[in-house]
Amino acid sequence: MVNDSVVWLEEVGKEDIAIVGGKGASLGEMIRAELPVPRGFAVTAQAFRRFIDENGISDELFSALEVDVDDADILREAEKRAKKLILDAGISHDIEKSIISKYRELCKSEEDDAFVAIRSSATAEDLPDASFAGQQDTFLNIRGEEDVLEAVKKCWASLYGARAIYYRVKQGFDHRKVNLCAVVQLMVDAEKAGVMFSSHPSTGEPVTIIEGAWGLGESVVSGSVSPDYYAVDKRNRKITERRIAIKNIMHIKDPQTGKTVELPVPEDKRDDRVLDDDEILKLVELGDIVEELYGIPQDVEWAIKDKEIFMLQSRPITTIKKKKETKEKEAVSALLEGLGASPGIAYGEAKLISDASELGKVKDGDILVAVMTTPDMVPAMKRASAIVTDEGGLTCHAAIVSRELGCPAVVGTRKATSLLTDGILITVDGEKGLVFNGKKESEMARALDPEKTVSFARSKPITATEIKVNVSIPEATARAVETQADGVGLLRIEHMILGLPKHPKQYIKEGKADEYVNELVLRIQTVVDAFYPKPVWVRTLDAPTDEFRAMEGGEGEPIEPNPMLGYRGIRRDLIDTEHFELEVRAFRELIKRGYNNIGIMIPLVQHPSELRRAKEFMRSKGLDIDKIDIGIMVEIPAAALIIDQFISEGLDFVSFGTNDLTQYTLAVDRNNEHVAHLYNEMHPGVMKLIEHVITECNKVGVKTSICGQAGSNPKVAKRLVELGITSISANIDAVETVREMVARTEMQLILKATREMK
Ligand code: PEP
Ligand code: MG
Repeated sequence: MVNDSVVWLEEVGKEDIAIVGGKGASLGEMIRAELPVPRGFAVTAQAFRRFIDENGISDELFSALEVDVDDADILREAEKRAKKLILDAGISHDIEKSIISKYRELCKSEEDDAFVAIRSSATAEDLPDASFAGQQDTFLNIRGEEDVLEAVKKCWASLYGARAIYYRVKQGFDHRKVNLCAVVQLMVDAEKAGVMFSSHPSTGEPVTIIEGAWGLGESVVSGSVSPDYYAVDKRNRKITERRIAIKNIMHIKDPQTGKTVELPVPEDKRDDRVLDDDEILKLVELGDIVEELYGIPQDVEWAIKDKEIFMLQSRPITTIKKKKETKEKEAVSALLEGLGASPGIAYGEAKLISDASELGKVKDGDILVAVMTTPDMVPAMKRASAIVTDEGGLTCHAAIVSRELGCPAVVGTRKATSLLTDGILITVDGEKGLVFNGKKESEMARALDPEKTVSFARSKPITATEIKVNVSIPEATARAVETQADGVGLLRIEHMILGLPKHPKQYIKEGKADEYVNELVLRIQTVVDAFYPKPVWVRTLDAPTDEFRAMEGGEGEPIEPNPMLGYRGIRRDLIDTEHFELEVRAFRELIKRGYNNIGIMIPLVQHPSELRRAKEFMRSKGLDIDKIDIGIMVEIPAAALIIDQFISEGLDFVSFGTNDLTQYTLAVDRNNEHVAHLYNEMHPGVMKLIEHVITECNKVGVKTSICGQAGSNPKVAKRLVELGITSISANIDAVETVREMVARTEMQLILKATREMK
């Protein structure tokens, strides 16, 4: 065992975990096994301890951490105080000297001052092998004595990052007993890098999985780029899969500043293969050695420079470990974590679908796995027992359709299509957003829990606020009717159109506009008929161009930098009047057939003139709009702010499209899983807009409703009832709970009013 403050990595091994942490000890072991690890040294946990003691900041530091970690503001304040204490303190002369002398030694192999990476390796005194992976920071491309010393301190300070504090408290670790070793290693200026699982990360089979992308490994580790994917069967050394991804960004060292920067990958390299077969097989060999060294499958970070392979770190694959029981621990044992988009639990065979031509692979009960679902996948989604996607947020296509189909779904996992393989058996928990390897008995038991089973058989409370339901695909009609909703608050016709065999323009081009109108009529009729005489608010077309382009004949759809802010909603119909006219013809036909329960809802309005022009157009095409309810969706903050002007234009109802209203108010792309944590439909800014609209509409008797996802959240529903909304349209699976919450809230309001009268 070593006892210096600063030691070379080759001097440490697994017996030194208490001194250099798991990461440091593991690197030492790898060097001993002659694996290609970049040279480096460790500033030990004892040096860190001495630093705290010598500066006399111990009491202040640890008392700063005694806070309620569930309060995000207080937690952030604790982080700030603790980090400041560390960063303001000085490193003692002898530790400083040792760090500098080892750094100078490293520089000998370089022409200049060497660039180093400084990584944290935490240790817990009672539990030497406790894993704190990913809790603390790594600093790349650090150069020069002063910067190295500063980065060591920053590394130490990262032990008191909010996430790390939270994690330790929740896991019951005493802050005083957790120390941090800083590992300083020569930087590998990687041309390409990635991760490798020395055995299959979910099944533990002898199959090595390698992911790689251009530049430093940051892009792969953080999930910001879709990497290439290679699989090698170790039994016969055969490369069984080579999936080449489009790699749009990379992290590299800026030659000027030495800092790590994110850059676009040069056009000609984007779809180039990152690893050749030779490199793949060499990596597999190294994976075998490291697996043998530790006796269990390893998750390795690798990098390649000038054809030379380096192993940056290695740790056991936790996903094959024994399952644990608590929710947080479950997330650790899960194979994948994403957003729970549609509740329910399912177990089945994964089937990877890259486009519609592969839909036949999905048999009844299989689990459909895709980067993102598209409308032409709906037939397969109907057969699937669950859906898992790489991309998307709670209001993406996969989320909306799976909720309507009552099919459990986890979206935005980032890695499903690269981690899962065809035929592997998995359990999907659509409520918690987790995907497990094999059959997860505890989850399956929960699925059978009668409390969890949605049933519409219970007696239905009567509410003054109407409770409606959202429908997007005709196939969901029966389930929607079963909810006994008071009507349909949103019928999205684009999902119906996107489910047709070809783009509307293609029908027109082939002289088959009548056929197209007929298709539209049939699909809408399925819903308006099933609900008759209850009202069905049919929304005019609102499909983003990227979804339309995928259809046969959809090549003419414009390519937009940001389709969410682009050519969609009423702005599209007012330009493409050829299509708008066909929609109007469909509405006329339905009314002719006797369906007087139709209302028309205009999406994405931003100025009253759009409402005026849409009404004028419909009237000019023979639709008697005075006989039907006409309304708008409030999805753009501007429309909410000048709602009085829309009212003056003449309308019967407004409906909050909170999926869009939230994204436009908060500048958070609703389909982007990277910013999903900022997507908050209850943000005070969003609620304020809603409140303003309800107040204005109530003054003049214009009906108000909500059809965005937020309406399915009982908490939001409660608030909206308090604000005086006239109806709420929820997802099929949420109707019952929302109805109960609305009934209770109404009772509370009545009680309160009665008490106040006394
Ligand atoms: C909304 O924006 O809330 C909405 C219901 O419309 P869509 O999700 O179809 O954009
Ligand atoms: Mg919308």
